Amino acid sequence: MSLPSSFLDSLAGLPGYDRALFEAAHTQAEPVTSIRINPTKRVDLSFSLEKVPWTSMGSYVFPRPSFTFDPNFHGGAYYVQEASSMLLEQVFIQTGLKNKAIRALDLCAAPGGKATHLHSLLAPESLLVANEVIRSRTGLLRDNMIKWGTDNVVITQNDPVQFEQLPSYFDWITLDAPCSGSGLFRKDPEAILSWTPGQVNHCALRQQRILQSAWKALKPGGFLFYATCSYSVAENESIANWFIKEHQAIFQPIQLDSSWGIVETENGYRCWPHLVKGEGFFFTCLRKPQLDTVVDRNIRVDKSKRIKNSASYPSLSAWVKLEEQDVLEIGEELMLLPKLHQADFQLIQQVLNPVYAGVRLGKWLREKLIPDHALALSLRLSPSVNQLALDAEQAIAYLQRKEINVSGTTKGWVVASYQGLPLGWLNILSGRANNYYPKGLRILKDHL
Ligand code: SAM
Repeated sequence: MSLPSSFLDSLAGLPGYDRALFEAAHTQAEPVTSIRINPTKRVDLSFSLEKVPWTSMGSYVFPRPSFTFDPNFHGGAYYVQEASSMLLEQVFIQTGLKNKAIRALDLCAAPGGKATHLHSLLAPESLLVANEVIRSRTGLLRDNMIKWGTDNVVITQNDPVQFEQLPSYFDWITLDAPCSGSGLFRKDPEAILSWTPGQVNHCALRQQRILQSAWKALKPGGFLFYATCSYSVAENESIANWFIKEHQAIFQPIQLDSSWGIVETENGYRCWPHLVKGEGFFFTCLRKPQLDTVVDRNIRVDKSKRIKNSASYPSLSAWVKLEEQDVLEIGEELMLLPKLHQADFQLIQQVLNPVYAGVRLGKWLREKLIPDHALALSLRLSPSVNQLALDAEQAIAYLQRKEINVSGTTKGWVVASYQGLPLGWLNILSGRANNYYPKGLRILKDHL
């Protein structure tokens, strides 16, 4: 792997940079694989794990297993995520927001690595808006949030500028900016070929635009976590410096254990692959001063929307834990939303383009529920729903959408599960079972 000399020259003099060691990390060392567990879906994992020191939920995995053929992966027991990215946890905890009911936004969220992580750190009464501007990427974000089992997340598909319509609204914003991607050269050597100084400048201008919009949506006193997987100063320190000067943003220092190898630079922190067990990453935390007059939007609940009290669906309690929830009818579909976030959801609907919210329960037809995949994976699933325990081989066949032998099982809808972890629905009829695992999610390969 040979790195462009214009790229290497551009890093000279940066704190922690050593050209020979940096090049060696690219030519001689393999990137490590890491996962982050879902604290709400604890299962026994069969791989060899070593803790990532800066998070309570992450582990390096040796050797890299086949995640595709692990049912726990499909059930949302863990997320495969690069270790440096998990530093978000240190920042979030050190802001003091961990146990507070807050409104949080992940502005560039697909495929959902940082959004699922943030969700695991938020107090359950919090609301998370996970946004992705590129329409074709929102499906993957939605699928990953569904796997994670969330019920307090709204997924939107909007350009960052549209968030300016929610002034001073969020207590926390994650801005994992689209960038030139040099920090991931080891994982994606092809990206080296498309790296140019021009691309870095193009990304920096875009980052400035996104940051300006995000800042307007941040509450005075709120925190913005800005990160890139680029090594270029123009996308990192220069953005932080410019923003601090122009917008009186306050740099929030973060305490990091020196043994982790993370280097403090100007108004931010860097992970270098020759110093840290992870890939290239830059992050900073900016606080909005309490100077602005607080714009408190008058949030009204529009009663004309088909929001019903869950009592309107008497048989629903057999499927769902309904406490503190409202049921929303969208055509034939039923969605479950926490009562607590109803007003926020309506406001978001007025000014943004939500593509998913809460938990999709399924279709309500002739006073009966045809359950949706999202309900099976949700933490809102009622424990009284029947489960069919599958062994590893059956679970893989189920995930491949093959026929499962279910002789002796009572008829009706059951959740197919592996080691107690729900994977999806089966409808048991006389003599056969219909496999309702979503076609688009099925394992396409036949074997390892
Ligand atoms: N946060 C994600 C995670 O941890 O899984 C990764 C985000 S990735 C670094 C940056 C995201 O920004 C991509 O999903 C990309 O589609 C999105 N993006 C691209 N152009 C954008 C723009 N102009 N405004 C906002 N987001 C953009």
